[in-house]
Amino acid sequence: MVANQWAGISEDLRSEIGESNHKNWIAPLECLGLSEGVLRFRAPSRFVGDWVKRTYHDQIFAHVKTRSEEVARLEFIVGDATRKPSAPAVAPQKPAVTEELQGAPLDGKYNFDNFVVGKPNELAHAAARRVAEGGDVTFNPLFLYGGVGLGKTHLMHAIAWELRAKRPDLQVLYLSAEQFMYRFVQALRDREIMDFKNLFRSVDMLMVDDVQFIAGKDSSQEEFFHTFNALVDQNKQIVISADRAPGEIKDLEARISSRMQCGLVVDLHPTNYELRLGILQRKAAQFAQSYGAIKIDNGVFEFLAHRITTNVRVLEGALQRLFAFSSLIGQEVSLDMVQDCLSDILRSSERRVTVEEIQRKVAEHFNIRLSDMLGPKRTRTIARPRQIAMYLSKEMTSRSLPEIGRRFGGRDHTTILHGVRKVEEMRASDSQLNEDIELLRRLLES
Ligand code: ADP
Ligand code: MG
Repeated sequence: MVANQWAGISEDLRSEIGESNHKNWIAPLECLGLSEGVLRFRAPSRFVGDWVKRTYHDQIFAHVKTRSEEVARLEFIVGDATRKPSAPAVAPQKPAVTEELQGAPLDGKYNFDNFVVGKPNELAHAAARRVAEGGDVTFNPLFLYGGVGLGKTHLMHAIAWELRAKRPDLQVLYLSAEQFMYRFVQALRDREIMDFKNLFRSVDMLMVDDVQFIAGKDSSQEEFFHTFNALVDQNKQIVISADRAPGEIKDLEARISSRMQCGLVVDLHPTNYELRLGILQRKAAQFAQSYGAIKIDNGVFEFLAHRITTNVRVLEGALQRLFAFSSLIGQEVSLDMVQDCLSDILRSSERRVTVEEIQRKVAEHFNIRLSDMLGPKRTRTIARPRQIAMYLSKEMTSRSLPEIGRRFGGRDHTTILHGVRKVEEMRASDSQLNEDIELLRRLLES
């Protein structure tokens, strides 16, 4: 690879990425030549070098490959020893962020089509859709929060994909709070803080994922706040995610947390059974495309939706494992296979409910006093809920009958056994009772 070949590539890139991106990122590169399969470029600053590497590496590499098979990889070094006179001495005034959505890479599967909407996430979904229209900014920021694996990152990527398709003119930057910090610290160290500021202030939409990581990191937090304000002042949309509500993030400065609450704060609730079932069905259709269709016995999805309740990522992993296993051994997915194949996941996702929690929830549900639940009264309005609580304690905890008995005001284990049997019997014919028990179980599991 020689310099004039690079000039040709550079020209090709100009038409692909546009004049201003070319001027900001490609023109400043100096091609140093090929040595032992490595094609080296010099970038005028680490910032430009990193950006090019992150943003244009694949594109440059593809062009290089068509011209020279010898090149195995690209390397970008920083230095101004022989800087080309044409290279700007400082970073361009407005480093246009690439048309490509860069920052952190986006996962192609995380789009709106693949997002299953249910009661627990419908508000978050609607808000994300709204932002993805790219119209007037009505709430700023959009603050999405919720527990691990409930779809925050998925929704943010979906917004980015949608905007990329609908409004390719907008510069959308998605990155995690950690990446924001990392880049900030790097820019400080390399005295490129102006580049950093310019870059982040030049985007049309900024999405920062997992912002709780920034709390307590004073200077990053400060810079984030300024970036945030600058963009809000320009009426640019900001989307933030965190694992909890702004006011609950420890060590997040009060002024930041209160700015966060100025927009729309929506939470993703823990999934419910119906949503988990919907997600399983949708994911199964997706996996069928990569693994080929497999037969899944009735009841498998229901079982999984019932047992794996916390994190959608875990649910998805379980299903994927079943697909892989089933296509490997050429058998349909049965409940037995599920037990064998997922024993570790099933064990670890068993939520450890305590007898005390069960007693409390059941008492609440039937509107009786906790003291009555544990006390000696034998009227039916009290005895029945007590038996249900005994039954659930046996089903949902690993406590032995004598242990349960002790927690029910020191009752004998035979009394507990009697209560459990009684409920089992009644369940066979009493549908209202079944509903109550399923509801309680779900409440206790979530
Ligand atoms: P978070 O960022 O909230 O921790 P993610 O967005 O990374 O969670 O989601 C974890 C996994 O679960 C991803 O693979 C995502 O696609 C999937 N997921 C979560 N919620 C949904 C949903 N409603 N529909 C489809 N997939 C979902
Ligand atoms: Mg996430």
